[in-house]
Amino acid sequence: MSFRARLTSFFFLIVVIPMIAVAILVFRLIDSSQASKSDARASGVAAAAANVYRRASVQASFAARAVAEELAATPASQLGSRLSGLMSRDALARATVSVGGRVIVDSGDRTAVAPGIAVMAGSIGHPQRTFEVSQLTSTQYAQEISGPQIGVVVRSGQRTLASTLAGATDLRLPEHRGAVTLGSISYRVATQTFPGFGTDRVTVSVLSNLSDSSVAQDRELATAFIAGFVLLALFFAMLSSRALQGQLGRFLEAARRLGAGDFSSPVPTSGRDEFAQLGEEFNNMSRELERRLGELEQERARVRKSIRRIGEAFASGLDRDALLQLALRTAMDATNADRGRVSARRNAAQPLEEMMHLGRLEGLEEAVYEAERRALEGDGTGEAGDGSVRLASVALGPIAPGGPTHGLITVCRTGRRFSEDDIELLRSLAAQATLALRNVTMHHDIQRQAVTDDLTGLATHGRFQELLDTEMEEVRRYRYPVGLIMLDIDDFKAINDRHGHQQGDRVLRAVADTLRATSRDVDTVARYGGEEMSVVLPHTNLDGAYEMAERCRLAVQSLRIPLLDGGEPLSVTVSVGAASCTDGDKDGLIAAADAALYTAKREGKNRTVKATQTAAEVAGGE
Ligand code: GH3
Ligand code: MG
Ligand code: MG
Repeated sequence: MSFRARLTSFFFLIVVIPMIAVAILVFRLIDSSQASKSDARASGVAAAAANVYRRASVQASFAARAVAEELAATPASQLGSRLSGLMSRDALARATVSVGGRVIVDSGDRTAVAPGIAVMAGSIGHPQRTFEVSQLTSTQYAQEISGPQIGVVVRSGQRTLASTLAGATDLRLPEHRGAVTLGSISYRVATQTFPGFGTDRVTVSVLSNLSDSSVAQDRELATAFIAGFVLLALFFAMLSSRALQGQLGRFLEAARRLGAGDFSSPVPTSGRDEFAQLGEEFNNMSRELERRLGELEQERARVRKSIRRIGEAFASGLDRDALLQLALRTAMDATNADRGRVSARRNAAQPLEEMMHLGRLEGLEEAVYEAERRALEGDGTGEAGDGSVRLASVALGPIAPGGPTHGLITVCRTGRRFSEDDIELLRSLAAQATLALRNVTMHHDIQRQAVTDDLTGLATHGRFQELLDTEMEEVRRYRYPVGLIMLDIDDFKAINDRHGHQQGDRVLRAVADTLRATSRDVDTVARYGGEEMSVVLPHTNLDGAYEMAERCRLAVQSLRIPLLDGGEPLSVTVSVGAASCTDGDKDGLIAAADAALYTAKREGKNRTVKATQTAAEVAGGE
């Protein structure tokens, strides 16, 4: 249902329907007041009619006495003619003379009413005579009491003597009070009965017109009043409806503008009514929305910045320091902080130390320490404050399972406390950073494993070849000597067979550690394969290589390797081949050292043999 339709139905409900009810009521009231008015008028006229009748009767009785006295001695035969003479003299309407209840003379108008009586006592030869005289015809009587809106009907029994209303002759009239309709006109009726001539009874009915012009006037007035009221109500209803629709239209327009993102024009409000309040609230809402949108825009800018940073971090090749810096910057951006620092451990055994900071933290050392302490001791986050500066710290998880907290990110800002949301954001960021740090560490480990032998911690065969290649390039360019030692554990298989492979591994590790300890920093010890090891000796000639080989052999020989099962410690020996080159022939160098080792084995083991052939000779001899 549209708003307009609603208003229209409200108008009908609260104005039109009640007004119809009021109209019905008013018309009823007018009718009933008119009826009582007519009744009162009929009663008034009836009372007047009774007065007139009685007065006429009294006067008639005087006339009757006069007639009786004059005709007292008149013989019955002359009574008729004498009476006629007296009637015209005294202007009588009707006169009767009765003797012993029998009318002997009846003269004049038979419709005459209000008779007066005189009785003449009889004497000898003269019986008693009763004279009845009337000076009023019923027509005169009816005319005298009728008037505007008043009709009179005079009857004697069923006979109508006189009527001032046309057509009332045969009308059935109520005996006392009531209503009748003659033609299209309604009357209220009051009927009374008076004595007539002899034993006749005269009934006089007064009819008061009910539907006179004053009723029509009253009705017209009421109709005009009600119609006027309805029109006035309609006018104000339309005025209000238009104002309402105007206001609603303005709200709708403003809502559409808001929907389209235009916050510049508020809803116009005036006055202090509910609409003004609604408009005020609407404008408040709009302002709040605009503020929120502004914040959202800032938030988006921060997110964009963070995404760019993360992209840069990817480009930086997953470096641990870059990652920590990224985590700090992102944490600051996310919480609108302007300062911060990251503390971390270099490895699990080291204490936490500051890795980097952004912005000035001077003077805040205690607060920073407090926030970080709470983060470490609590559930991973801690807060502290110093004046208007607020600090929040979040702990990074351990890198290896069961290890210590890897580090802490601490951010500072001035003013607002950190909200639950901020803390939750920091927590999630720390979790992500921890994951990324774990990945970086793992990547690092895998890289190291590729160049390091797991069992001995020495360079792998691949790394050995790579290093030797690099060394050979230097040798070819600068012509300095490079020494190479090849070494094989004597009767190693027997150790495995006798004490098991784990013991064999322990021997391998012990020999490797000895070689590492014996060699110089610039030398590289590698596991060539199985229980064969080699040492690359930059800037070392054949004699130097031999010397180093002997040192290694003697160091190994003096080793006492504890047995796993707790028996007598083991001793092992090694056979060593030492070679060197200045021509940069890698394969020749390896072959020469290998050949020398082979010779050492053949000559009885636990000895060092200096390569006698050059790399070229070895290659040519085979
Ligand atoms: P020789 O004195 O002639 O060198 O005798 P040998 O027993 O040392 O020689 P051989 O080459 O026959 O045996 C080497 C053994 O080293 C064979 C292999 O089982 C063992 N071996 C190789 N790599 C490992 C390792 O990583 N751990 C252990 N425990 N044994 C290994
Ligand atoms: Mg071997
Ligand atoms: Mg061996």
